Amino acid sequence: MNDHFDVIIIGTGAGGGTLLHRLAPSGKRILVLERGPFLPRAKDNWDYHGSFQYFSKETMFNRDGGEIQPGFCYHVGGNTKVYGAALFRLREKDFEAFRHHDGVSPEWPLKYRDWEPYYTQAEELYQVHGQAGADPTDPWRTKDYPHPPISHEPRIAELVNDLKARGLMPYPAPMGIRLNEVARHLSPCIRCDTCDGYPCLVHAKSDAEVIGVRPSLPKPNVTLLTEAKVLRLNTSPSGREITSVIADVKGERMVFSADVVVVACGAVNSAALLLRSADEKHPAGLANRSGLVGRNLMKHVLGSLVAVSTAKVNRSKFPKTMALNDFYWGEPGYAFPMGNVQLMGRTPLEGFRAQAEQFAPLTPEEVAQHSIEWWLTTEDLPDPNNQVRVNGAGIVIDYTENNGAAFDRLMNRWTGILKEMDGSAAGFKTGYFPTKMPMHSLGHQVGTCKFGEDARTSVLNLDCRAHDVDNLYVVDGSFFISSGAVNPTLTIVANALRVGDHLIERLGAWAAESAGSARGNGTLKTPVVPEMAMAK
Ligand SMILES: Cc1cc2nc3c(=O)[nH]c(=O)nc-3n(C[C@H](O)[C@H](O)[C@H](O)COP(=O)(O)OP(=O)(O)OC[C@H]3O[C@@H](n4cnc5c(N)ncnc54)[C@H](O)[C@@H]3O)c2cc1C
Ligand code: SF4
Repeated sequence: MNDHFDVIIIGTGAGGGTLLHRLAPSGKRILVLERGPFLPRAKDNWDYHGSFQYFSKETMFNRDGGEIQPGFCYHVGGNTKVYGAALFRLREKDFEAFRHHDGVSPEWPLKYRDWEPYYTQAEELYQVHGQAGADPTDPWRTKDYPHPPISHEPRIAELVNDLKARGLMPYPAPMGIRLNEVARHLSPCIRCDTCDGYPCLVHAKSDAEVIGVRPSLPKPNVTLLTEAKVLRLNTSPSGREITSVIADVKGERMVFSADVVVVACGAVNSAALLLRSADEKHPAGLANRSGLVGRNLMKHVLGSLVAVSTAKVNRSKFPKTMALNDFYWGEPGYAFPMGNVQLMGRTPLEGFRAQAEQFAPLTPEEVAQHSIEWWLTTEDLPDPNNQVRVNGAGIVIDYTENNGAAFDRLMNRWTGILKEMDGSAAGFKTGYFPTKMPMHSLGHQVGTCKFGEDARTSVLNLDCRAHDVDNLYVVDGSFFISSGAVNPTLTIVANALRVGDHLIERLGAWAAESAGSARGNGTLKTPVVPEMAMAK
């Protein structure tokens, strides 16, 4: 088989899709292998039940063998196809060691000053709207957001004013939706009520397909194969290089090779692929001399809060315009970080009807009309016992929550504030309905291949190259040292841009060295798949 490329990227989510965007202009021959298809543009994308079809039904297992369904989105763009597009920078102190209720959140080997230029580029690429300086925990920045904050709808504007009147500091959520509020007729985004958790029908969400993959496809040096699930990576006799990538492409087993192989399957699937690729030189799994591949899985302690007061109607379509970090680092009398509070997209009436008994005596109609929905995030601490393992073809997620007390405090605190604000005026009904996300809620998966300088205590070096394998990189959420308490994607994007710069340098050097050398012409058996032809 002579399908040799300069780079193979496996996965097209926030990490892989962004890396492709960075590398495509280099002219290097890039093969992208994505296990899913393109997500279709269909009316169902904006339908509550219809959108469920885009979350995989794949079964994984908990440590007791019980079945779980993480519901990953296996399509071009990965989980960003359905994400809420809240694109936060980690706080400056998130890169330092910090004491939490259940232990210490460890120090990162690269500091905020190292990330800042890449956060700036990431915000530009993903067209983030926001307001610099509005949140006191915001880290310093060299450039303002590239786009103004998304305006609040009337009920949210009222809420923001009420919170401010109580001395709290809500601020505009940093959002990656391509909304032009000055010239709405030119706006790709139509500001609809099915964004957070749904794929965007008009390609206006800044997801990895729209921002990273599509603009790269017309380039002649880029080849994308969809429905191409990578099964294993093989190494040379020394174990120091990946020599072949084995994939199931639409039911056919195919073999590819490249000077550089980038795994970007998401923290769970990247770890599983490395573990499944165990061989004689890597008996515990590829690049796993440290024994840390799959370990330190983090996913945040997450929960939602449906807050209802029939005193006010919430007609907002796109309410996800506010966040609050007043309790991010704790509060007077509580020295431990608690986390981030943000608004989330709205649940439609049919969603509340499906859980009607939970809200009684409020009716689903009352809840749908009056509710404000919140999303609360607390940092979970890296624990080597929290891990991804493989069991034959199956994936085991062995995870025990920590830092739950900080989350409970945040939830109680926030519920208390909302109750006080809603008051108890006669004739009005109120209700506060918290839901804690279960163990298998893995949307914020990070940390299974931590990066660092010491090969004994990390899987990847600072360039996200495997310590043990010279041409293997992992470029997704796997490299995280700690999870912070804001959504992870902007940091994944910033890192992909950073590693992309390193790879351009590395590949440039090789190009000079290998000029004139005989290398496979990279002709694929199936050179262009139908969706690519259409995209071009
Ligand atoms: C409902 C929901 C809402 C979210 N909202 C937000 C938000 O508002 N803000 C935020 O920052 N984050 C949010 N997230 C999290 C965000 O989606 C992830 O942080 C991000 O997508 C992770 O990027 P990644 O590159 O690590 O992995 P992914 O985006 O998961 O990409 C992995 C890719 O690899 C492919 N793949 C996997 N295995 C293989 C294989 N063996 N062979 C080939 N391809 C493979 C997958 O199909 C996928 O395309 C949300 C997630 C969910 C589920
Ligand atoms: S709000 Fe905008 S970006 Fe989000 S799904 Fe609707 S049109 Fe797309």
